[in-house]
Amino acid sequence: MKLDNPEVMAATFALLAEGIDEAAAIYDAGERLLWWNGQLPAFFPELAPRLRQGLPFVETAETLYDLMNPDGGTPAGRRGFIERAIQRHRHADGPIDYQRPDDGRWLRLTLHDLPQGCRLKIWRDATPLYGKRLAEHRLGDALSQLNLGLMLSDPAHRLQYINSRFFVALFGAHVVDPSPLYAGEPGAFWRTVAPAFVAAPELDLLASLERPSPAPAVLQTRDGRWVRIEEQRSSNGHTTTFIDVTELKQREDEAALVRIDLERSLHQLRRVQAELLKSNEQLTVMAETDPLTGVMNRRKFLDHARHEFARSLRYGREMSLIMVDIDHFKKINDTWGHLAGDTALMRTAERLSSSVRSLDFIGRLGGEEFAVLLPETPKAAAAALAERLRLVIAGISLPEEHGAISLTASFGVSAREAGDKELLNVLARSDRALYSAKRGGRNQVAVS
Ligand code: GH3
Ligand code: MG
Ligand code: MG
Repeated sequence: MKLDNPEVMAATFALLAEGIDEAAAIYDAGERLLWWNGQLPAFFPELAPRLRQGLPFVETAETLYDLMNPDGGTPAGRRGFIERAIQRHRHADGPIDYQRPDDGRWLRLTLHDLPQGCRLKIWRDATPLYGKRLAEHRLGDALSQLNLGLMLSDPAHRLQYINSRFFVALFGAHVVDPSPLYAGEPGAFWRTVAPAFVAAPELDLLASLERPSPAPAVLQTRDGRWVRIEEQRSSNGHTTTFIDVTELKQREDEAALVRIDLERSLHQLRRVQAELLKSNEQLTVMAETDPLTGVMNRRKFLDHARHEFARSLRYGREMSLIMVDIDHFKKINDTWGHLAGDTALMRTAERLSSSVRSLDFIGRLGGEEFAVLLPETPKAAAAALAERLRLVIAGISLPEEHGAISLTASFGVSAREAGDKELLNVLARSDRALYSAKRGGRNQVAVS
């Protein structure tokens, strides 16, 4: 049977996927929700009341943004978030991991291409996986700097994460190889570290997994130090903290021992975590974004465009590309200065961005040259859009001390054609068209 009819496909998936633990959904080529399974509302309760056939992914991204920004966020932040979400969902090759803002669960999204430009999206709970990955991650390095031992385990007491400082400082001499801990056997941790402690009934208590919520225990290590161990339980798993309380113990400061406030350490931990996540995100953004105009840089644009070309080729979908080059830009620099030139570039990128659909994407290919890639768009529609963009750019007026700078740009439009083997074929055609627009007198659109 040829499975290329969206309705047939949806019905087939409905039969296959209702039994699985994962949330699954199919989006069509226009990023509209075509089908979802019974787990989806459980994974995304905030979406449950809105789920309907044809729900645009944009609306889903908006809902998520609102969830992450209870204070409403900013229009620019909202737009950026939604655009990034769309690009990621459309162009990711590998899985995408992200953390839910409300309960901290990690979700792993995998994307699978289906006929007719549809995509199957599957979300699994990746919280256990992520715990392990933390150890290899920069965040793991930061956690290991904390003056606090931290251990995360899943509800079945299988170790997910431990910070290395804790290991080296407290058990380094006794635990030679921590890797068995990660093998996933419930309770392996306590058995592995037991030799580090002076035998104590509390340790047996900690090692017995069925005990109800345990009280903090203060245990002595074989090298004479005292460690306060406290476990907090939730349905997501257990968080165990370890603090070296040798000094307090030596001062016989029992009162202080009892009221050690974990709040400060945990607060510090959360701050480190938030900062690292932010800086990681910034690094990614920096590597992908042109710093002057905020649109994709050349590398990222070409990456995305190649991916879109491959998709378009595989499923026989339309795809067009517009090249944009500002006219006599050198003269703007020469007459008004480089700063004015930069402003003109920023304004041009802004206007281009706000004039295209959210599925389209824009890159700065270099200097004063931009490109717009239009998925699911035939050449004639791209040419019409280019004409609209031409008017938009020609309408820009940058106030200056002695007048106003006006801009025009030339446009080269082409589309993927039968016989094209790579993106380069389309780029070359747009480039030729752009050249002929320049030769024809600039401020015009040429189609190839
Ligand atoms: P044409 O109409 O044929 O496109 O002429 P043009 O002057 O726009 O083209 P040309 O390629 O001769 O000049 C492009 C100029 O853009 C030269 C370069 O100094 C300037 N430029 C490139 N990048 C930047 C930038 O980031 N900021 C500014 N202000 N100018 C830039
Ligand atoms: Mg130019
Ligand atoms: Mg140029």
